[in-house]
Amino acid sequence: GLPVVAIVGRPNVGKSSLFNWLVGRRISIVDPTPGVTRDRVSATVEYAGRYFELVDTGGVGVVDRADLSTAVERQIEYALASAAVVVFVVDVRSGLVGLDEEVAERLRRWGKPVILAANKADTEVLACAVGDFYKLGFGAPLPVSAEQKRGKEELLEAILSRL
Ligand code: GDP
Ligand code: MG
Repeated sequence: GLPVVAIVGRPNVGKSSLFNWLVGRRISIVDPTPGVTRDRVSATVEYAGRYFELVDTGGVGVVDRADLSTAVERQIEYALASAAVVVFVVDVRSGLVGLDEEVAERLRRWGKPVILAANKADTEVLACAVGDFYKLGFGAPLPVSAEQKRGKEELLEAILSRL
């Protein structure tokens, strides 16, 4: 089958928004409420004549609002088992939070290639405010905005270069 690219990250950073934007169709449910349960979704993405299977891990497992970190852990385990490349999504508007560190810790243990996507970089000013995310240890954060459709080509190039 096609190589799998898994989108991971804590709830509400914009994983489903990013998924729909990259796929070019509204497949995954975007919800302003953190921790809403939904199914795992995947779709084929084509870019520059190459193909991969993109997976939105947001709905894997039963999401319990009182224990979001368990849900995050579970979705990561699922996604990483099959992924060739991981897109780790963080939120520049909220900045770096504890759950991001937990996700990063898990990803480090798996040792798969990680692209750090700093979403909600809706403006140039926000795109320049990604410095804190270097601490996560996955190199330069790539500013993107699923809402304002910024940074798509850079993200796709980064994904393909690691496949
Ligand atoms: P998920 O839980 O990680 O899948 O996040 P969602 O895709 O459901 O998005 C959570 C919230 O963030 C929704 O209210 C989205 O509209 C919002 N959101 C997603 N991407 C962006 C973005 O690039 N900029 C801004 N400002 N909001 C976004
Ligand atoms: Mg989602």
